Amino acid sequence: MLEVRGIQTFYGNIQALKSVSLSIREGEIVTLIGANGAGKSTTLMSICGVTPPRHGEILFRGQPIHRLGAEKIVTLGICQVPEGRHIFPQMSVLENLEMGAYLRQDKAAIKADVDEVFERFPILGKRRQQAGGTLSGGEQQMLAISRALLARPTLLLLDEPSLGLAPLIIKQIFEIIRKINAESNTTVFLVEQNANQALKIAHRGYVMENGAITLEDRADNLLSNEEVKKAYLGI
Ligand code: ATP
Repeated sequence: MLEVRGIQTFYGNIQALKSVSLSIREGEIVTLIGANGAGKSTTLMSICGVTPPRHGEILFRGQPIHRLGAEKIVTLGICQVPEGRHIFPQMSVLENLEMGAYLRQDKAAIKADVDEVFERFPILGKRRQQAGGTLSGGEQQMLAISRALLARPTLLLLDEPSLGLAPLIIKQIFEIIRKINAESNTTVFLVEQNANQALKIAHRGYVMENGAITLEDRADNLLSNEEVKKAYLGI
């Protein structure tokens, strides 16, 4: 579905990605794990066109997308949930969800999708008129993921959904991501520092260090890999 081939991404003179290649197959959850500053967010932002690569290519269903720009890439069904969630704090839960559907014209289907979100997350339904900024961290993460789903993405890019959340809430959020992938056939690219939880729900994983991929394997193999255990799982 997605193929990233030798991308190099820069912030001015600083090279954040050295030559990153990875692939994501339809229906998979693929996780990218690594320490702070390894280049995980930059990889995600390069895919969605916010920080386009200077060299290399990104193919989506065989078509190059690395020169299209973020506005066009989102219309292809590639949608991101940014680190820190970035929900609209003054807008209600319902308005936040509607913003996710801003590219769609099918009003009846949007309403049905909003109702489905409220069925999936009753807490968001209860708080539908409440300002987004007043929700708890976990609820905001649910809202950010749901808002992205309102765009009906085929490839969902998630940047550190566990950031700043309590362990129990993190478990719930990862279970939500697993279900979204399994039940609505949404392919997921999951950038995470919480390697343990991410590898538990992913099919495959990549390990990133200093702007380069250093390991790639099935998620269960990475979970039992001695190097990964020592460096990222704290075992
Ligand atoms: P984290 O888990 O902390 O978010 P990360 O693995 O996602 O880290 P990136 O945020 O992609 O890492 O950062 C990769 C490198 O690029 C780091 O050295 C970082 O300092 C640098 N970087 C990121 N954003 C910018 C920016 N806007 N301007 C300059 N350098 C940046």
